[in-house]
Order: sequence, then C-alpha cells, then structure tokens
Amino acid sequence: MALEAEAKRMVAEFEYTAEDVNKGVKEFIREMEEGLEKQGTMMSQIPTYVTSVPNGTEKGVYLAVDLGGTNFRVCSITLHGNQSFSLQQSKVPVPRTLMEAKTSHELFHFLAKQIEAFLKTHHKDHFEKHRKGSVEEGEFFDLGFTFSFPVNQVGINKGHLMRWTKGFDIQEAIGQDVCGLLQKEIDVLGLPVRVAALVNDTVGTLMARSYTSPGKHKTLIGAIFGTGTNGAYVEKLEKVKKMKAIEEAEGGKANYDSSTGLMVINSEWGSFDNALKVLPNTPYDIDLDRESVNPGIQMFEKRVSGMFLGEILRRALLSLHQHPDEGIALFKDASSHDNDIRSTTTVAEDSALFKQWGIDTSFLSIVEEDQSDHLRITKQTLEKELKIEAASTEDCVAVKMLVHAIGKRAARLSAVALGGVVLSTNKLQEEEMVDIGVDGSLVEYYPGFEEYIREAFREIEGIGEEEKRIRIGLAKDGSGLGAALIALVAHNSDQPL
Ligand code: ADP
Ligand code: MG
Repeated sequence: MALEAEAKRMVAEFEYTAEDVNKGVKEFIREMEEGLEKQGTMMSQIPTYVTSVPNGTEKGVYLAVDLGGTNFRVCSITLHGNQSFSLQQSKVPVPRTLMEAKTSHELFHFLAKQIEAFLKTHHKDHFEKHRKGSVEEGEFFDLGFTFSFPVNQVGINKGHLMRWTKGFDIQEAIGQDVCGLLQKEIDVLGLPVRVAALVNDTVGTLMARSYTSPGKHKTLIGAIFGTGTNGAYVEKLEKVKKMKAIEEAEGGKANYDSSTGLMVINSEWGSFDNALKVLPNTPYDIDLDRESVNPGIQMFEKRVSGMFLGEILRRALLSLHQHPDEGIALFKDASSHDNDIRSTTTVAEDSALFKQWGIDTSFLSIVEEDQSDHLRITKQTLEKELKIEAASTEDCVAVKMLVHAIGKRAARLSAVALGGVVLSTNKLQEEEMVDIGVDGSLVEYYPGFEEYIREAFREIEGIGEEEKRIRIGLAKDGSGLGAALIALVAHNSDQPL
C-alpha cells in the first residue's frame, strides 16, 4: 500500500487540470498572435505560401518526391476528384557517398536520375512523347518536393538550405535554393517536370486530410504527434502582419496567390512557451530538459511527443525505484506473489531503466492498453524490454498509474494547441464543422489519445459542448498525397511576378 500511495503522489504531479488547460489556451493564442506580427518569436508561425486547401474534388496526375534522412521516394498520385486517389511509388536508399559529396550537383543529379527512371517505368507514354519534343510546357508534371532539412522558405517553390542534419554534409549546398538545385538537374536530363512546391510534413498532412476528409469540408489544422509535434493551419492573410517585413527582406513581393485571402502557417508549436509560463514542470521534466541536447528549447514538444514520453516515464520509474525507503520503493519486492510462487524481483544491472532514452514510447501504449489479469502483459513487457524479472502486481499497478498520467497529460497539452488554433481562428463560429487532420505514431497507437484530447476540449471555455462539432481524422501519407496536392495548388495559384 505504501508504494501505491507514493505512486499516487507522483501521479498528482502530472495532473493538468481544467484550469491549467484554459490558462494554456490563452497563452497559446497570445503566442500565435505574437508570431504572426513579428519575426524571431517563440512560436515561429512561418508562412508557407500555400494559400488554399483542397476539398476533394481536385483531379489530375502529380509527382511527389521525399528526401528524408535515409531514402529517396518518388511517387505519382492520380487524384480521382471524389476524395479518392491512387498512388505508384519507388524508394531507393541514398548512397552514403552522396550524403557527403563535394558538390550539390552529385546529390541532386542522383535525385533527378531517380525521377527519370520512375517516369520511364510508370509514365512511359508521356516520357516518350516528351523525348520526341511534342510535350508542351503546360503539360509538364508538377512536382511537390518534401525536403526534411531546415530551410528558410521564401516562396512556394523556393527555400534556402540553412544547414544539413541526419548525417548529410555538402558544404557547397548551404544557402542555396533546394528547389532550384533539383530543377537544374531535371532540366539537364530534359524531363517534363516542374518543381512546383517545397513541402513541410505538417502542411502535407493538412492537405492530405483536406482532400480525403468525408464531404467537401476543408480542413483547418494538420498536426503531427510522432517523434516530434508540430501543426500547420489555415490563417487569414490579413492577420499575418509580418508578411510585409518578410517580403521586404527578400527584396520584393513573393510569388503567391493572395486572392484567396488565406495563408497556411507552419506554427512550429513545439516551441510553445519555452519560457515555461504555463507549461507543467515536474522534477522529471526538469531533469529531462537539463540533460537534453537543447536545454530550454522545444519545451512543449518535450512534454508531448513520442521522442520524450518514454524518457519522462523512465525518470519517474527510476526515482520510485531508488526511493530511500525500501518499503516504498518500486521493483524491490523480496517476496512477491506471482501465481502463488514466491519470487524476488530483480532489475538487471544493464537494464534500460538506467539508460537515458532507455524506454520507447511504444512501451507506454502497451501498458496503457493492458487489461490482463494481474497486469500479466505489463509484467512480461517489463521483463522483455527492461530486464526486470518478477515484478509484483503492485509494481505493475504503480507503473500503469504513471504511464496513464504521462500519456493523459500529453493528450491534454495537445488539446491546448489544437483548441488554441480552433478558438483563435474563430472557426466554430464560422463553420458547421471544424476538421483536424492528424498523423504520427503517438496519436495513431496510444490508446485513448483522441478521447483525452476531446475530454480536454469540453473543458475549454469557448468550446465546451461544441466539441461535438470538431472532427479529428487520421491523415496518412502526407509526404506523398500532401506534396502532390501542394504541387496542384501551387500550379493553380501560379502568377508571374
Ligand atoms: P516520424 O515522427 O519520424 O514521422 P512516427 O510518426 O512513427 O515517425 O513517430 C515515431 C515516434 O513514435 C517515436 O518517438 C516512437 O517512440 C513513437 N512510437 C512508436 N510506436 C508507438 C506506439 N505504439 N505508441 C506510442 N508511440 C509510439
Ligand atoms: Mg511522420
């Protein structure tokens, strides 16, 4: 019982009350607005130059490519115009030597070659026709380019590489426009392809959901709850007060369609409240941040996303394991009853419990889901993943209480971001139904994540019962379908400078 009481005390530290949620929402809206007004704010609120979202009636064939950390993916997407689509794709690993090539030409030439091979296989007719010189520029494929490295985007198909990450290192490419680099190599090969859009994964999620969501409703938010967390949403252009200053810095009007009066904003909400004015801050959060590679940064993300929840749990479990009072401590049973067999709980010396990042967030999903007798599944998972033998049922109950507290807090914090956007855009007043597209393993697999978000929505002043009019749906494949859709709107909104 002593252990249970202590676990309860720790669970209370993770409690994030209705009052906290409402304070969070107010601060979130304040930071959203600040980010729209000036540059260099906590939440970056980056204009993406995407100025409309699809409603599912769009048609056509589009190309999408995705340069992630390891692979290069090429796909073509056929939009059928009735919320459905078909997709063909190929995937090749990027050779290590090209990741550290001397010149950007070597890497981007390789990428263009893959596009050429893809066209030869999947769009032979168009490819041959172009070879014979009978494809007009108007019939070129529009391509959306998902590029998962930090870029300073200055137009719908223009963005300068800020730095490489994930093992890439081609010095000469830094500062260059990555769309221009790809287009140059495509042109050298003479392919009928136009790089139409540079794509961020949150915007891809927003577009993919907006196209596939039931009915002709447009989607308001695309949100990621995976390794990290971030969201993009549709904002009124007139509210993006910093637009002018950004354009002046770039030396003139950027190339985008302002006639819709809208601008999709990449919020970068992972950095919400880095100052910790309203975010909860337990001893485990404090330690996690201090020992992270970027202390003081991405403070919202560090309480919400898949990369961190396992580590918060690990720190909480470790602290309970090392409790000075042996009668209270976790995983210290000398004689636990397991099916009437007396056994001693042991934690292996090299248990992941003692290693930073030792617990993956998928562990939380397994425990949260566990309804088995005496939490047998939790017991087995502790054994398999943490080398903790013969944990008692009381131990498992304590683990489950902490898992639940950490997962639920993450979902309630997610509701702060989503609710903040819903309220600040006034969409519940303007529309019958507010649609949100989500993607990422956490929201996809953590049991009850959406229901905890909804519970918090109902506690938010200004949402309450209207929570029923908010629809949340999984948007799979943002980097293929989403990128194709951005190429489409880029094409439709293309205006000469
Ligand atoms: P990415 O963010 O790279 O696009 P994912 O959306 O798959 O990839 O998210 C990966 C993150 O999700 C990792 O941090 C991992 O710990 C976490 N994760 C993986 N599986 C699960 C699961 N079943 N439940 C909760 N979190 C998970
Ligand atoms: Mg992802």
